Amino acid sequence: MAVQKRFIAGAICPRCAEMDRIRSWEQNGIRYRECVSCDFFEQLPIEDESAPELSTRVNQPREEQTRQDIQTVKILDPKAR
Ligand SMILES: [Zn+2]
Repeated sequence: MAVQKRFIAGAICPRCAEMDRIRSWEQNGIRYRECVSCDFFEQLPIEDESAPELSTRVNQPREEQTRQDIQTVKILDPKAR
């Protein structure tokens, strides 16, 4: 298991406010961040960040199309008669 821990250039630790002390690496679909100056440690799921966006993009156009169809019908009907 080769895990590359890389320093994030310009990153500021949210706890001790030191710059260039944050190391980041990814393992098993999780992104880890830690500070070498203090005890700051953070883990973020990588897969969960992209999954909700994909489902939202699929659902939104359908709702917009349905609303437009309903509005168009309501507007056109009175003019036609
Ligand atoms: Zn720190």
